[in-house]
Amino acid sequence: MIAEVIINRTAKKLNRTFDYQIPTNLDGIIFVGSKVLVPFGKSGKLEEAFVVGLKEKSNYKNEIKEIAKLEEQLKDEQIALATWMAKRYFCNISDCIKLMLTPGTRTQNREKRIQDKTINCVYLKKEVEEIEWDLAIGKIKSEKQKKIIEFVKDNEGVTIPEIEMMTDTSRAIVNTLRKNGYLEIIEQKMERNPLDRKDVEKIKNTEKVEKHKLTEEQEIAYQEIAQKMEERSYQSFLLYGITGSGKTEVYLQLIEKAWEKKRTAILLVPEISLTPQMLDRFIARFGKEEIAVLHSKLSMGERHDEWERIRKRKAKIVIGARSAIFAPMEEIGIIIIDEEHDNSYKSEANPRYDAKEVAKKIAKQNNCPLVLGSATPDLRTYYWAKQEEKKENQMLLLTKRANQSSLPKVQIVDLKQELINGNHSMLSMDLYTAIEKNLKEKRQTILFLNRRGYSTFIMCRNCGYTVKCKNCNISMTYHSYEKKLKCHYCGYEENLVTICPACHSDKIRYFGTGTQKLEQEIQKQFPMAKTIRMDIDTVTKKNSHEYILDRFKNEALDILIGTQMVVKGHHFPNVTLVGVMAADSSLNMDDYRANERTFQILTQVAGRAGREKLEGKVIIQCYNPENFTIQCAKEQNYEKFYETEITLRKQLKYPPFCDIIVVNFNSLSETEIRRCK
Ligand code: ADP
Ligand code: ZN
Ligand code: ZN
Repeated sequence: MIAEVIINRTAKKLNRTFDYQIPTNLDGIIFVGSKVLVPFGKSGKLEEAFVVGLKEKSNYKNEIKEIAKLEEQLKDEQIALATWMAKRYFCNISDCIKLMLTPGTRTQNREKRIQDKTINCVYLKKEVEEIEWDLAIGKIKSEKQKKIIEFVKDNEGVTIPEIEMMTDTSRAIVNTLRKNGYLEIIEQKMERNPLDRKDVEKIKNTEKVEKHKLTEEQEIAYQEIAQKMEERSYQSFLLYGITGSGKTEVYLQLIEKAWEKKRTAILLVPEISLTPQMLDRFIARFGKEEIAVLHSKLSMGERHDEWERIRKRKAKIVIGARSAIFAPMEEIGIIIIDEEHDNSYKSEANPRYDAKEVAKKIAKQNNCPLVLGSATPDLRTYYWAKQEEKKENQMLLLTKRANQSSLPKVQIVDLKQELINGNHSMLSMDLYTAIEKNLKEKRQTILFLNRRGYSTFIMCRNCGYTVKCKNCNISMTYHSYEKKLKCHYCGYEENLVTICPACHSDKIRYFGTGTQKLEQEIQKQFPMAKTIRMDIDTVTKKNSHEYILDRFKNEALDILIGTQMVVKGHHFPNVTLVGVMAADSSLNMDDYRANERTFQILTQVAGRAGREKLEGKVIIQCYNPENFTIQCAKEQNYEKFYETEITLRKQLKYPPFCDIIVVNFNSLSETEIRRCK
């Protein structure tokens, strides 16, 4: 038999397959997905390679060399999974296989690299939307450049050697992209790298080790899931519980059960929630040695080491972000996906898999339960859980807070009215007064501003009107270079309006405010306040998410200004006020899930205020106070939101009543593209 292999090394001429003879002793053992060593080039030096195809005969004229060694073999289930993924997500099987093999090669200078004080990290220089646009119009032509951009988009902060290794490209192409203004390279301190093995070792257990006696609701949920574990049968569960209802405690006890039964467990969390505080509870119960932590900010070498610990069965519990679902676990007893509504579970780069779907597949292969947990479930998950006869997801409810703290008071402020009253600032009178009061009382404030959608849509400041696509009912996106409004779903275009079609005022405009502007305004209005800003700029470039939140907490800064990132993780006992700047902005995302995302974000952000004894207050500023999403968020009423939204989805034939597929055609020539259609 002949194996077609891809050499796992960066070089232009290696971006194709090579034929190798399978030696008789390895015949029937080497499959698609095997990692092997092959002699390569004139020197015959051994190189690492992946088998991507098998065939009887080779067309190669010269002598065919033999595979030297089998390094790693995927299990049958993994190959089946990769095959399924390739079909489901229209991608190369080898790209799927790569996700399952030990990441990276044995990085030689790993020890040295860990001691390095600084490393060069690569980031996108432009907004994702802008880059996507350039890709779509063919401004970025080279396949390698596209590959690098796709990779960096999903792995911001990677190093150049990592890019070279993972995309089969070279430093020179990274530099070209930097010159062309797409990428930037920033020197970063290593110790800011969150949660590598060293950090995990450093975590001091502060949480109490003993487990809680489960409440009645928790007990019911636990028993249902544990039952499936006993039976060794697959079932998907939706654990729907309000914030603080004790979902994590249920996870802990389920994992413990798997552990007692000598089975392993996978817990996926959104990358941003993977903090020392979060891990602390798990380490306290299971110990550091038992747990492997996987996320994209680990260096390739560190990821390699964690992977090895799992393969050697040293670590039996994997806690990680999306790609941790591919960890090489044996005998999986339970898979848990926390905050299952989070969009980070869907990969935005090739292969574009959905970790929730993959988890389901793996749970079925292992005959184990899958638990999807959330306080604001994905509408589709909830819909499927409500279908009595189908029982796609079995619903389990936690309706009470486990530690008796109360939910905060929510107030809505109409920004249109502020404008009428002559207040042109970003802060309404009520929010201004509340911040002033909070500063006097030495309490902390969080101001939340939704970055997405901010710079891309236009809205009438007089009546709240936004231009929506007449076909798809989603907000039209503003393209500044052409001064046109476009629908990102169907491609419908309109000229930019300057007079509001609804109220005929000339106050309709492009939304361009951001966190920086808000910070300036706060500093102007409250010169004594100590502020800290957290957004894409401050987080990826200078400090980690964790570092900013720690400073806010430990240095008792007055005001934290931030985007989505402020929403997750962390407990701030002294935060008593949360202000949402323009809640409508995310209602106008160019996405049919805009209402859903807004509801989720507002519910979570409101949950940041008054977590402990101090009572919390939330002020939501918006242009459409009567909007049902905002009203439901005010009441923290998921059911009511669900009922209205699902009716809309049904009327407009959006998921879960259909599936949406995006098909992209790229070409330099319009005639050619038309032929593809
Ligand atoms: P969630 O994950 O739903 O937000 P947690 O599991 O973090 O909720 O629980 C919230 C708080 O309540 C935590 O401080 C936790 O220690 C506590 N808690 C959870 N379950 C119980 C219980 N059965 N009895 C007492 N306290 C509990
Ligand atoms: Zn449209
Ligand atoms: Zn208007």
